[in-house]
Formats: sequence, structure tokens, C-alpha cells
Amino acid sequence: MKVSMSFGKDYESKYEWENCSCQGGSSGIVLPKNSFSKVFNGDPLKGLAEGMASEESYMTAFFEAFPTEPKCFIRGEGKNIKEAEEEAWNKYQKIITCEHEMERRTRTDGYGYCKHCSYSSMVFEPLTKCCKCKKPTAYTKDYKGKWYCKKHSYTMPKNPNPSRWEKMHNMDNKLPRKRKKLLKKCAKNRFEQNGIYGKIRFNYKVYMKFNCKGKEFHLLFKRQELELIKKFK
Ligand SMILES: [Zn+2]
Ligand SMILES: [Zn+2]
Repeated sequence: MKVSMSFGKDYESKYEWENCSCQGGSSGIVLPKNSFSKVFNGDPLKGLAEGMASEESYMTAFFEAFPTEPKCFIRGEGKNIKEAEEEAWNKYQKIITCEHEMERRTRTDGYGYCKHCSYSSMVFEPLTKCCKCKKPTAYTKDYKGKWYCKKHSYTMPKNPNPSRWEKMHNMDNKLPRKRKKLLKKCAKNRFEQNGIYGKIRFNYKVYMKFNCKGKEFHLLFKRQELELIKKFK
């Protein structure tokens, strides 16, 4: 099958990779060990040129496959794309014949790794529980480290000392209060037209999110925002 590469021409793969989507690419060049000191301490261009000309330097390529059955991710690496595909294929063959024995290692979110092959997937229940309904969840946690499921994420308290990253992503403060009120009113009308009555919860990080009784919809573009107002004012 044809496999698209991160740059350059498509690669005609050796194996058929049924029910998998695949991609490949080059991860760059690996220089001999002593090259770094030459590059950083001497003439960088000369150091690089020498390193690349050396027999010890090589290009690396990767081949990635995303099988649907079992749903997982496989990555093979090698000096060229053929080698990388071969490594990925061998991993895949192991995965489909292995009697997996899954373990969590350091993860608490339900993600597991097979002890015998490279299979990894979401196979367990999360070890962390929603602080409201006690259901196992790894959906989101607040600044105190308490966990919330999707349904209860709207009751999560705001961090009184938000980090710069949080401030940047919290668009809520940038929205004029009047506009927010109008949007919430329109959202309420939209929910009610679909037979959902209750308190509207609003959340605006990268996009706007309206939630009522566990049902939700998103607004990603200004155009959608204006449409909502036009239709449900
Ligand atoms: Zn396995
Ligand atoms: Zn919950």
C-alpha cells in the first residue's frame, strides 16, 4: 500500500497493513558521538560537515501504524524506511499473536502496557475517582488535585492563582459580561427547544462550551456564535 511520508514521495510498503492507517518519515540525522563537541566548541559548519561525512553518521527513519483491531499505536525505527517498516511489522505480528498481560506501570488513568509485547491501550478503569459522584475517572482535576468526571467538571472550582498558561487559555475573562449573558440566554433557549431544562453551565477555554444536565454543545467560530444569537435570541 501507499504510505505517505512526512516529506518526499509516498512509500510503497512491503506489507499490506490491513485495517491500519500508516505514515512514515525521517527523524533526521544521527551524528557520531564526538561531533557535538566539534560543533559547539569549534567551527560549527565544519563540525557538522565532518560529522555528516563520517561513516558513523546515519539517517533515521520511522514508520508508524495505527491498527483498528486491536486499537493501538506502533512505531518502528531504522536507518531507512524499509528497516523502520520491518521493525513496526515485527512488533505488530507480536501484538496480534501475544496473550497480553497488561500492567499499569506508573499510569493511574487506566492506560496499560503489555508485559510481553509493545501493545498499550486504555484497558483499565482509572484509579482516580470523581470527588462528586465517586465514579472512576481521569477526566480532569482541579488545582488542589481533586478529580472530576466529565459531568461534574463544570462544578470544578477555579484556581485562585492561575498559572500563566491557564490565564492565557481562560477566555472567559475576555468576554464582555453582556455578551456572555446573551449567549447563555440563547443557549438556554436552544436546550429548551430540545426538551432540556435546567441551569446552563458555560466554559470558555479554547472554544465555548455550553452544558445543561450533562448535554453539551460547542461554539468554535465567531460565525457559530452569531448564528446562535440570531436563531435563539
Ligand atoms: Zn502482549
Ligand atoms: Zn462525577
